[in-house]
Amino acid sequence: MFDFDLFVIGGGSGGVRAARVASEKGFKVGLAEEYRLGGTCVIRGCVPKKLMVFAADFGDCFADAGGFGWEVGTSTFGFERFQVMKDKEIDRLESIYRSLLDNAKVNFFPTRATLKDPHTIKLDDGKTYKSRIILIATGGSPFIPDFEGSDLVSTSNDVFKLKELPERVLICGGGYIACEFAGIFNGMGSSVTQVYRGPQILRGFDNDIREHLSDSMANRGIDIRLNHTVEKIVRGDGGLKVYFQDGNSQEFDFILYATGRKPNTNGLNLEKLHVQRDSSGAVVVDEYSQTVIPSIYAIGDATNRLNLTPVAIREAMSFVATVFEGEPTPVDHINVPTAVFTRPEIGTVGYSEEMARKEFDVEIYRTKFKSMLNGIANRDERNLMKLVVDKATRRVLGVHLICSGSAEMIQMVGIAVKMGATKEDFDRTCAVHPTAAEELVTLHNPIHSS
Ligand code: NDP
Repeated sequence: MFDFDLFVIGGGSGGVRAARVASEKGFKVGLAEEYRLGGTCVIRGCVPKKLMVFAADFGDCFADAGGFGWEVGTSTFGFERFQVMKDKEIDRLESIYRSLLDNAKVNFFPTRATLKDPHTIKLDDGKTYKSRIILIATGGSPFIPDFEGSDLVSTSNDVFKLKELPERVLICGGGYIACEFAGIFNGMGSSVTQVYRGPQILRGFDNDIREHLSDSMANRGIDIRLNHTVEKIVRGDGGLKVYFQDGNSQEFDFILYATGRKPNTNGLNLEKLHVQRDSSGAVVVDEYSQTVIPSIYAIGDATNRLNLTPVAIREAMSFVATVFEGEPTPVDHINVPTAVFTRPEIGTVGYSEEMARKEFDVEIYRTKFKSMLNGIANRDERNLMKLVVDKATRRVLGVHLICSGSAEMIQMVGIAVKMGATKEDFDRTCAVHPTAAEELVTLHNPIHSS
C-alpha cells in the first residue's frame, strides 16, 4: 500500500504546481521542501530581481521628468529601506505558496527528502513514506568555477541579502543574470564593471540585440570588458583585489559571479537507484518528464532543459496530464518567448537571424529609433526591433526587441509566432498609435536578404 499517489521533492514553481493540481484532482499528495516555499523564482530569482529592476528604473524617471517640465528635487536611493520592503513582499508571496498547498490539501513537509527506493521517500527525521509516483523538482543553484580566490566571490543568492549597496561592483559572466544585475547595480548608483570571456555578451541571442545591449549598457556607464577573464582574487587593503589575465588589477567591494547554474541533484541517492544524470548533473528524462525508472519523474531546472519558471510550470502541467489524467502530453519547448530584464530590456521569441540563416532563406526587417519619451527627455538611447522572416513560407521565424516594455510586448507577439503568423499577417494588423509596438506591423522593407 502507498501512503501517497504523488510525492514531490522541491517546493519551487514547478513542484508546487504539480502537487497542487494533482491534489485538486483527488490524488493524495505529499511535498517536501528543505528551504522556503516558492523556490528560486520567488525567493532568490525572478521576483526579487524584478523588484530591484523597478527600484533601479526610478532613477530614469527622475532624470527624464525634467524634459516634461517637472522640477524634481534631490533624489537619493535608500538601499536598506528597499531591501526591507522587498523582503516583506517575498514573505507575503511565500505565504501565498503555503496557502495554495494547504487549500489544495497537499501534505507539506518542511524538510529535506531523499529517495530510498523507486517508491520510497526518506525525510531528514528518518521517517519514510511510500508513494506510487515520485517527482524530482529540486531546481538548480549558482555555479562558481574553481580558481584562486573563488571563496571571496558572491552569487545572485547573496545579492538579495546585501545590507548596503556596494560602491564598486565587479560582475563576471555574460548571461541573463550577469547582464540583469549589471543594469540593476548601475541604476542604483554603484560603479559597475562587467567582464565576459567571449567576444560579446548574451551568447545565443540575436547578434543585433547583443551588440545593441552592450552599447546601451556602456552608454549608461557600465564598463564592459569583453574577451576578459579573472586570474585570481585576493583580499586587499581597500577591498577585494582582482588580477585580470591581461596583467591589470583593480579593487572592488563586491564581486558577483553569474557563471551559470547547476541542477540540485546531488545527495538524493539517484546513483543507487540508477536514475540517469548527464554531465551537468541534470536528471535525464523523456518528453513526458519520465526517468528510466518508471515511477520517478523530474521537471524544471533539475532537468536543465530550458531553465525558465514558466517552462517548469508547463512541465508540471504536462506531467499531471500524462500521469494523473491519462492524457500523455509531451512538453513543448518550441518558440518559448523570454525576456531579459536588462536596462534597456529585451524580449525575444523564435530564431535569431544567425540560427535562421542556417536552415532558411530569410528576410530581415529591422528598425532602430528613438522613443517619444527618450526624445523629449533627451535620453541618448534607441529602441531596436527586428523580424526574421522565412522567404519561402513568409512565416515570422523570430522577433527580437530591445526597448522599454519589450517583455510585455513579446508575450503577445509570442502568440502570433507560436500560431505560425506570416509577415503579411503582421502587415494586415492595424497599428496602435502612438506606441513603440506599432513598428512591428509597419516594417515594410527588408534590410537585406540571404
Ligand atoms: P547563463 O548560462 O545564461 O550564463 C552564464 C555565463 O557565464 C555565460 O556568459 C558563460 O559564458 C559564463 N561562464 C560560464 N562558465 C564560466 C567560467 N568558468 N568562467 C567565466 N565565465 C563563465 O547563466 P546565468 O547564471 O546567467 O543564468 C542561468 C539561467 O537562469 C539562464 O540560462 C536562464 O535560463 C535563467 N534565467 C532567466 C532569467 C529570465 O528569464 N529573465 C533571469 C535569470 C536567469 P559563455 O557564454 O562563454 O558560455
